[in-house]
Amino acid sequence: MSHKYSFFGAVEKSFDKAARFTKWDKGILEQIRQCNAVYQIRFPIKRDDGTVEVIEAYRVQHSHHKTPCKGGIRFAAEVNQDEVMALAALMTYKCTIVDVPFGGAKGGIKIDPKKYSSYELEKITRRYTAELIRKNFIGPGTDVPAPDYGTGEREMSWILDTYTAMHPGEIDAAGCVTGKPITQGGVRGRREATGLGVFFGIREVCNMTDIMQKLGMETGVEGKNVIVQGLGNVGYHSAKFFQDAGARIIALAEYEGAIWRKEGLDVDAVFQHRKKTGSILNYPGATNFAKTGDALEMECDILIPAALENVIDGQNAPHVKAKLIGEAANGPLSPEADEIFTQRGIIVVPDMYLNAGGVTVSYFEWLKNLSHVRYGRLEKRFTENMNTHILGQIEELSGKKVKGTARNMILHGPDEVDLVYSGLEETMINATREIMEVWKSNPDIPDMRTAAYVVAINKVATAYAQLGIFP
Ligand code: GLU
Repeated sequence: MSHKYSFFGAVEKSFDKAARFTKWDKGILEQIRQCNAVYQIRFPIKRDDGTVEVIEAYRVQHSHHKTPCKGGIRFAAEVNQDEVMALAALMTYKCTIVDVPFGGAKGGIKIDPKKYSSYELEKITRRYTAELIRKNFIGPGTDVPAPDYGTGEREMSWILDTYTAMHPGEIDAAGCVTGKPITQGGVRGRREATGLGVFFGIREVCNMTDIMQKLGMETGVEGKNVIVQGLGNVGYHSAKFFQDAGARIIALAEYEGAIWRKEGLDVDAVFQHRKKTGSILNYPGATNFAKTGDALEMECDILIPAALENVIDGQNAPHVKAKLIGEAANGPLSPEADEIFTQRGIIVVPDMYLNAGGVTVSYFEWLKNLSHVRYGRLEKRFTENMNTHILGQIEELSGKKVKGTARNMILHGPDEVDLVYSGLEETMINATREIMEVWKSNPDIPDMRTAAYVVAINKVATAYAQLGIFP
C-alpha cells in the first residue's frame, strides 16, 4: 500500500481541515498541533542466549495544556517516531473530547513482543521505565502511561514496581500508570473499557433517527450485521458487547485471515478456537478468507477496524460496503479514505473519541489511586439499606410484593464496576451528542471526524487561553 501522508502527517491534515471551522489564530493552532516533547531512547539488553541487543524506544508528550500527560505504551516491530507522535497527538484530542483532564502522550518500544521471553520483556519494560524516570517522563502528576497494542496488565505492574522502588514513600505512586491489575491498584472494568466505549459510542449514533435514515438503516444496534477486524483486547470486547446487544457478528478478521458466517459467529467460541488451534481460520461452519483485508470489503452494516493504523486507504476504500464505520483502532483510515467515504455518504465514527473508553476508565483508575479508596466502598451499603427501606414502604402502601430479578435490581447498591460502566456510558453518550451537534450546526463540515476535531481544538485552545498564554 502506498500512502501520501505519514501517520503524523495524516493527523495534521485532519487537524488543518477542522481548524478552518474555528476562530483561533494561527499561533494557538500551531501550538496545539505540534508535539511538545519527543524523547527517543536507546538502551542495551542481554538476551536469554547471551547476545546483546540495542532497543529503540520513545515517549512523546504532545500537549501539556493539562497535566499529567496520558497515553499508552505500545510494543510493536513497526514502532517509529512518526507513529508515536501521531498517537500522542490523538491522545490530546481524545482526552479533551471526553473531558478527561490530561494532556496527550504516547510511548512505543520497537520490538515484536512475541519474539521475546517474558524475562526479556520484563527487563526491557523495567529499563524503559527507569529511562522515563531519569528524564521526569513518568509520575502521577507528570506523565501516566497505560496499555496499548502489545502490552497489558503485566507490563503495567512491572512499570509500577520499578517506579515505586525508585520513589519510596511517594503516597500517590500507584497513579504513575493505569491499566494495572486490580490487586496492584487497578480499577474494575478497565480491561474491557475501550471495547465497551466503542459499543456505547456506536449505539448512540445508531439511536439517532435522522442519521440512520440518511444511511438507510433502522435505528438501534439489534439485528445489525457487524464485522470486526482484530481480535485483540479492543476488538474482542467490542465484538462481544455488540453480540450481547443482539447484533450479528458476521465476520471476524485477524492477521492470518478472516472468517465469515451469514448467521453470525459466536465471539467467545471463535476466541477459544483461535487459542486452541493458533488461527482464526477453519472455524466450524464458517467460510475462510486467506486475506485478512477481504473482511474489510464484505457486505455489512457496521465495520469496526480494531487493530492497527492505515488499514483502509484510497485503494480499498472504494470497495468497502459498510454503511457505518467505527474506528476502534487509532488511525485505521487514511485521509484519502476519509474523502472517499464522505463522497459515498458512509459515516465514519472517528477513533479520537470512539476509542476513548480506555483513557476514560484510566482516568477513573487514576482518581481511585489518588483517593486511595475503592469506588462504591462508602455508598454501597447505605444505598442498599435505603433501597430496602423505600421498597418496603412501596410494598406496604401497595399491598404487593416485588420479586425475583426486579427485586434484586432495585435493592442493589453500586459496586465499583457498576460506577465505572455508568461513568463510561455517560461520557460516551455526551461526547457523541456534542460532536453531532457541531456537525449538524455547520453544513460545511464534511464529516464526523472534522466535527470531532473542531470540538477538540476549541477545548484545548480554551484551556490555553485560561492559562493566560494566549490573551
Ligand atoms: N492506549 C489507549 C489509547 O490509545 C489507552 C490510553 C490510556 O489509558 O491512557 O487510548
